[in-house]
Amino acid sequence: MAVEIVKPRIDKRDYKRIVLQNKLQVLLISDPETDKCAASMNVCVGAFSDPEGLEGLAHFLEHMLFYASEKYPEEDSYSKYITENGGSTNAFTSNEDTNYHFEVNADRFDEALDRFAQFFIKPLMSADATTREIKAVDSEHMFNFQILLVQLQKHLSAQNHPYHKFNTGSWDTLEVKPKERGIDTRKELLNFYEENYSANLMHLVVYSKDTLDKAEQLVRSKFQDIRNTDRDQIRFTGQPCSAEHLQVLVRAVPIKRGHKLKIVWPITPGIRHYKEGPIRYLGHLIGHEGEGSLFYVLKKLGWATSLSAGESEWTYEFSFFKVAIDLTDAGQEHFEDIIGLLFKYIHVLQQPDASKRIFEEVSSNASSCMLVNATNFS
Ligand SMILES: [Zn+2]
Repeated sequence: MAVEIVKPRIDKRDYKRIVLQNKLQVLLISDPETDKCAASMNVCVGAFSDPEGLEGLAHFLEHMLFYASEKYPEEDSYSKYITENGGSTNAFTSNEDTNYHFEVNADRFDEALDRFAQFFIKPLMSADATTREIKAVDSEHMFNFQILLVQLQKHLSAQNHPYHKFNTGSWDTLEVKPKERGIDTRKELLNFYEENYSANLMHLVVYSKDTLDKAEQLVRSKFQDIRNTDRDQIRFTGQPCSAEHLQVLVRAVPIKRGHKLKIVWPITPGIRHYKEGPIRYLGHLIGHEGEGSLFYVLKKLGWATSLSAGESEWTYEFSFFKVAIDLTDAGQEHFEDIIGLLFKYIHVLQQPDASKRIFEEVSSNASSCMLVNATNFS
């Protein structure tokens, strides 16, 4: 099926969407002027699919996949290869997706892409890497205050929604507890991979210096062996927060010095209005730092050192809008006043004559982003 790809006039790159025989959907981008090439693979399975009693398994799999494949068995050689060739790699696990991506010097893209493709064809996931990576997952969870705050928010949501579950994984959920119940975490990990990693649930984006035709050949040769089991995508319906979970104030004492204030609202997911982009508009206004903005006032009062606003943790069913403010000691004393100012500012934005100039600024930024026909590319 041909997909019309709408791009800004100033964008000189070429785009093409293809679907491989194994139903892997691919967006090819050709940019003859680039020095670096990149790829991103999204798998439509995430933490919400963690089996009961193995919280964090999807995230743990994300860690393990990176490690080694049958074709490239030397541990961590993928990351080494990329960093030695001017690039970087990363990955994340969200509620319903797991994403892997990298960039590398253009002349090394062919081999980098081959190494990347092999995780999705034949990953190794060896037994000795298992214990080591459970420890890595555990320390990620323990020492990241952001992750802990998100876990706290999850804990305070509806118990019957998958959002409520602990999703990072820890030594306790991936090693101690499963062992107590006679569960072999590695076996479950391999099952999870076999069950969920099907090519029809994957989307690949490849950013290449080659022409579209050459990039297409490269992708077809490297990714066609990913197994397709025609697995259905699991949709998780319902809302994680109802009235009883809202209007709640939670105080948490950090180990590190510093104060953070977070205000969170459940909202309609921005993806449902991607053409109009209302959330981007709000994020731009509330996160603005210029004169007349909320942050400008807070900074003048000596109450805040940074402020960000935007959507996070969204799925197609639910989403949150978050305002996060780094407070000074004085700001911490005045956190209720700050919340008052934030609501006052939102009230101003709700006025019908809210600045046309700002709207135009946001919409002109947005027009430099590319729009892909998302209904055909989901
Ligand atoms: Zn991780």
